[in-house]
Amino acid sequence: MALSDWASDYVNLVLAVGRHDGDFVDAYYGPQAWKTVAGTGDPRPLAELLGEARRILDGVANSTLLADEDLRRDYLMGQLGAVEAHLARLHGQRFSFDDEAEALYQVRPPHLPEVTLESALARLDDLLEGSGSVQERYQQVRERVIVPVARVDGVFHAAIAEARERTRQHATLPAADHFTVEYVTDKPWSAYNWYQGGGTSVIQVNLDLPIAIDRALDLAAHEGYPGHHVYNALLEQRFARPAPEGRGWLEFTIYPLFSPQSLIAEGTANFGIEVAFPGEDRLAFEREVLFPLAGLDPAEAERWARVQAELKVLAFADNEAARGYLDGRLDRAAAEAFLVRYSLRTEAQAAQRLRFIDAYRSYVINYNLGEQLVRTWVERRGGTVADPARRWAVFLDLISSPRLPLGLGLRSS
Ligand SMILES: [Zn+2]
Repeated sequence: MALSDWASDYVNLVLAVGRHDGDFVDAYYGPQAWKTVAGTGDPRPLAELLGEARRILDGVANSTLLADEDLRRDYLMGQLGAVEAHLARLHGQRFSFDDEAEALYQVRPPHLPEVTLESALARLDDLLEGSGSVQERYQQVRERVIVPVARVDGVFHAAIAEARERTRQHATLPAADHFTVEYVTDKPWSAYNWYQGGGTSVIQVNLDLPIAIDRALDLAAHEGYPGHHVYNALLEQRFARPAPEGRGWLEFTIYPLFSPQSLIAEGTANFGIEVAFPGEDRLAFEREVLFPLAGLDPAEAERWARVQAELKVLAFADNEAARGYLDGRLDRAAAEAFLVRYSLRTEAQAAQRLRFIDAYRSYVINYNLGEQLVRTWVERRGGTVADPARRWAVFLDLISSPRLPLGLGLRSS
């Protein structure tokens, strides 16, 4: 069988797994009939789907390749390996946090000693004036940059417009490029991009908890430009679309969430924020445009930016909390307390993060470790802060590539 036949089997397998796990199929814009068939009748038993995953893996490994299909085979092998592992877990196999992360995302998350988190906390302690614990002083500063709910939409749209314009100067977006924003509540995430195919997305923003001003640009760039929306649109354009525009590779019409693709997706979406808005640039745009739109004091912008920069190391606290919790060393309350201490979340934010960890488990590594690995990869190719044009070029090359963490040599030590 040719690789394209195995690719069709892979798409149908992912659709079938989606019957067992509502979070699994993140996007699908392939043949509608396949979705209908997968959704009809009882879900296929997990044991049968596991056998199917192994059959397809074997087929892909032994299929005859056309010219230029090496990357395509590596992509399918990587994705299928993750589908198999996810099925095994759904079927009852237990994985440690680190084993699960490696099986799904092709990287083994390093363990961060608590002393590293403590020293990051100490730097923040020096930066924040006033009395009370560092967590309390952080929250006091944060309260001054909360966007009033009535202004969230205006601020968010201004952030998106700027992120899109900056991205369009470097990337060729589809002619129909478009997305809509919806506001939702009662979700375990703060925002989500649902790619619809055809260059369109629906971005949902969760209004359960107060939104600080920095989240506006984070979300606009991470979910939209040059993040998830652009990543999906470029893959569709370049691979999923029929020739001559694309390659007609149907495996790119589906996106299984718990797969190595997600490390690239989240890592580039996070790193993309500073590709589009490098340091001082970001501060200027926030201070001059977003703070006034939000009705906030622009004089707060610089301090808030410095505080945010110190949070980069503390972002890794999520992995430690999730590992401790999922491996059974921390109960829920202890994991939440860990997040309040080291990621400086409010109790409500920590509870929301635990809901996220319940649903998405080791997926948390894709944000912090993914960003770090992507940054290293881009900088090694000359895409440094000092060369923004080169950084855009290397970044865009990465997000329009079928390569997965293994193929990119993205290994954590
Ligand atoms: Zn994301």
